[in-house]
Amino acid sequence: MTEKTCDIIITGAGPAGLSLACSLAGSGLKTLVVEQLSGETLVDPPVDGRDIALTHLSRDLLEQLGAWQRIPASGIFPIRQAQVLDGNSPYVLEFDSRGYAVDALGYLVANHHIRKALHEQAVTCPDTEIMTGTSVTAVHSDDSGAHVQLSSGEHVHAALLVAADSRFSQTRRWMGISADMHDFGRVAIVCRMEHENPNDGIAFECFHYGRTLAVLPLSERLSSIVVTVSADKADAIMTQDADDFAADIRQRFGNRLGDMRLTGERHAYPLVAVHATRFVADRFALVGDAAVGMHPVTAHGFNLGLRGQATLAAEIRAARAAGTDIGAAAVLDKYQSTHRRVTRPLYTGTNRIVGLFTDDRPPAKLLRKLVLHFGNHCPPVKRMIANQLTERVATRNIFLRLPL
Ligand SMILES: Cc1cc2nc3c(=O)[nH]c(=O)nc-3n(C[C@H](O)[C@H](O)[C@H](O)COP(=O)(O)OP(=O)(O)OC[C@H]3O[C@@H](n4cnc5c(N)ncnc54)[C@H](O)[C@@H]3O)c2cc1C
Repeated sequence: MTEKTCDIIITGAGPAGLSLACSLAGSGLKTLVVEQLSGETLVDPPVDGRDIALTHLSRDLLEQLGAWQRIPASGIFPIRQAQVLDGNSPYVLEFDSRGYAVDALGYLVANHHIRKALHEQAVTCPDTEIMTGTSVTAVHSDDSGAHVQLSSGEHVHAALLVAADSRFSQTRRWMGISADMHDFGRVAIVCRMEHENPNDGIAFECFHYGRTLAVLPLSERLSSIVVTVSADKADAIMTQDADDFAADIRQRFGNRLGDMRLTGERHAYPLVAVHATRFVADRFALVGDAAVGMHPVTAHGFNLGLRGQATLAAEIRAARAAGTDIGAAAVLDKYQSTHRRVTRPLYTGTNRIVGLFTDDRPPAKLLRKLVLHFGNHCPPVKRMIANQLTERVATRNIFLRLPL
């Protein structure tokens, strides 16, 4: 059996794992990223239907990593305004970028562009190896370090192991870390649609009764569609004739965009939210969805993943600069406490919003209406939500600490 040694092993070359590898570049630490997918898939990731809403903080972080510049300009779409609708009511809770000193509330970028850009950047990073077509098959850690078994038969030893292997992280389980998991019993069906009328850069979140519909602006006459339904209805929507599907979306969206046409495949994602009970163990840390997997309604998932890996990278780099052990409990604990403080309220808050806006009983319907009216008429609440959407305040705070 061959034995390899490095400073940090990252399980998973998804957006979170690759971001962390880029964040560690130039630190002098030898990093190995292990990914089960093939090298060709990482070089040219397939379209997966996800258009990711990125905050200003995420854009700034991706820029610092050198990945934002690699996303084609034609694949970045600003969100100028957001409107939230409830049931069949025409009343809207509205947010726009004016008054927040930003040109957009956020930016939509296809997930495959994000993955491709991060991979392109990661392969240029010194001291970074990406091993593809290889799974992590067993892990354990002790005082001497983290030990990882690979499907290739190799064994790797490192000062620190970081799991970025999705919300259903097997590495997290092997390390004995449990997680709060909430299965919503619902499925998000995502696709892109062309339409007759311009979308004016407005993102719509329509909490209809029985299902929710998000219409997210890409180019003027192209939008990303997210339909969320109970799991038993998903198959019928996935296999519905394309013209019938388009007619149904058009009608449910009140004909706002005129004629609509499906431009590609529909993709289905069962909705399960996850929050690990701990983010660290001996010489081990969780990042990305492996730490916190969010319901997509508040679009926090990858934004939190990016922020978390930046926090962890900052602590690792500080330890390295001080000449101390990068896998020490004190280093990992600082990451854990900072990131939990950020993620726990958002995780709980998002799950509550989903609970309320998918509850169609009369008291909940009334509360839903009150929440929208309160949001519109209470400027501090509205500002707080807008800051959360754009992450402008967080940008200032995190940048004071990041040695990137
Ligand atoms: C419908 C939908 C819409 C979304 N919209 C938004 C949004 O608007 N804004 C936002 O911020 N987020 C959004 N998200 C969330 C975002 O997509 C995720 O947070 C992000 O993709 C998670 O990245 P990750 O790297 O943590 O995990 P993943 O993308 O799951 O990557 C994990 C990687 O680990 C690899 N792996 C797994 N096990 C092993 C193993 N044993 N050995 C080696 N490799 C392994 C996998 O092959 C994979 O490449 C959305 C999600 C969905 C489903």
